Amino acid sequence: MTRSVSILGATGSIGTSTLDLIEREPDRFHVVALTANAEVRKLAAIARRTNAEFAVIADERRLPELRDALSGTGTRVAGGEKALVEAAGSGADWTMAAIVGCAGLEPVMAAVEQGGTVVLANKEPLVSAGELIPQAAQRSGATILPADSEHNAIFQCFDFERPERVRRIVLTASGGPFRDYSLAEMAGVTVEQAVAHPVWSMGAKISIDSATLMNKGLELIEAARLFPVAPKRIEIILHRQSVIHSLVEYVDGSMLAQLGSPDMRTPIAHTLAWPDRMETPVAPLDLASIGRLDFAAPDPERFPALRLAREALEAGGARPAVLNAANEMAVAAFLNRRIAFLQIAAIVEETMQRYDPAAPGRIEDVIAIDREARSHAAEAMKVFVD
Ligand code: NDP
Repeated sequence: MTRSVSILGATGSIGTSTLDLIEREPDRFHVVALTANAEVRKLAAIARRTNAEFAVIADERRLPELRDALSGTGTRVAGGEKALVEAAGSGADWTMAAIVGCAGLEPVMAAVEQGGTVVLANKEPLVSAGELIPQAAQRSGATILPADSEHNAIFQCFDFERPERVRRIVLTASGGPFRDYSLAEMAGVTVEQAVAHPVWSMGAKISIDSATLMNKGLELIEAARLFPVAPKRIEIILHRQSVIHSLVEYVDGSMLAQLGSPDMRTPIAHTLAWPDRMETPVAPLDLASIGRLDFAAPDPERFPALRLAREALEAGGARPAVLNAANEMAVAAFLNRRIAFLQIAAIVEETMQRYDPAAPGRIEDVIAIDREARSHAAEAMKVFVD
C-alpha cells in the first residue's frame, strides 16, 4: 500500500535526507505537498522529480518563478504563510516537519490538527508551544514521532507502558566544533568555524545552536515535552563520537541505548516505516574501527546556553518561548556577522531578564510572545551592535 507524505522544509538538510529515502522507494510513497522558503529552483526540481501534487514557496515574491518552473506539470503551486499552513494540512498520512525555527509553528499545528503521523525535526515549535502541541495531537488522534536523533533514540528505548520504571534519560551531545576551545578562543570564532560541525552535516541555524550547545538545551526541553519524565531526570553528557544517540536508564540499573552512524537517514527511516523497519543506505557502524567511546560532563562556564535552557524548562510557562525567540534572533545576528559568538547566549539571557510574560493558553499567545520576545532581543542586541 502506498503511503502519502508531505515534507515541510523540503529543500533543507532534513528535507533532502527525507527525499533521499522516499525516492529510493517510489512505489511505496506518494508525495502530496512540498514546501520551501525561497529556494524556488530546488523546490521545483524536487516537485518535478516526485510528481508532487502541491508545491508552496513561503516567500510570496517567488511565486511567479515557481509557477513558471512548474508549468506543464500537474503540480499546483501557491505562496505565502497561509499556503504553508494549507500544505501542512493537505491530507498526507505522514508529514515531515522540517522548517527551521518558530516559522514552523503554524504549519506544525495544522499538520497535527489534521491527524495522521507528524514527524518533528523542527523542534522550536515544540519548545515554544509546550503542551499545546501534544494536546492538539490528543484531540485529533495524530501520532507525533521524533526525528531528532536523540529523541528518536529515546523513543526506541523508552518503555511507555512503565514510565515510572525509568530513572533517567541521558541525552548525548557531540559538543560541537568548540568543545575543546577555551573561552578566550571562543570569543573570536568566525561564522565559518561555527557552522563546520565536526560530526553532523546540517542547516546553518542548528549548526550554530550545536556550537553554543543551545541545540542541546532546546533538546532538553523537547525531551521533557515528548517523554513522561521530570526535567531533573533528564541529563546531558558529552560524547564526541556521536555513536550513542541517547540512553534511557531504568530503576534496576539497566541502561538502554540506540547506536548508529551519525546520519539523519536512520532516525528519519525509523519514523517513515514505524512500527516496521526499512532498509537505508546508511553505512553500518564499524565498532572495531571506532575503537572507543568517550564521555564527559559539559562545561557550564563555556556553554551557558545549557543553564539558560534548564532554567526556562524548570520555570515553564512562556520562558521556553522567550528563550527560543531570543536565540533565533541572536543566531541570525551572528550569521549576519553583527554580533560575536559568545554574545548569542548573553543576548538570550538579557532578553529573558527583560521579558517575562504569562504562560500562553493558545497558539495565538505563543505567536504573540514569540514576536514580542524578538523585539526585546533586538533591543538587548543594541549594546553589542552599536
Ligand atoms: P535547513 O536550513 O537546512 O532547512 C530549512 C528548511 O526550511 C528549508 O527548506 C527552508 O527553505 C525552509 N525554511 C526556512 N525558513 C523558512 C520560513 N521562514 N518559512 C518557511 N520555510 C522556511 O534546516 P535543517 O534541515 O538543518 O533543520 C530543519 C529543522 O530540523 C530545524 O528545526 C532543526 O533544528 C531540525 N533538525 C535538523 C537536523 C539536521 O541534521 N539538519 C537534526 C535534528 C533536527 P529554503 O531552502 O527555501 O531556505
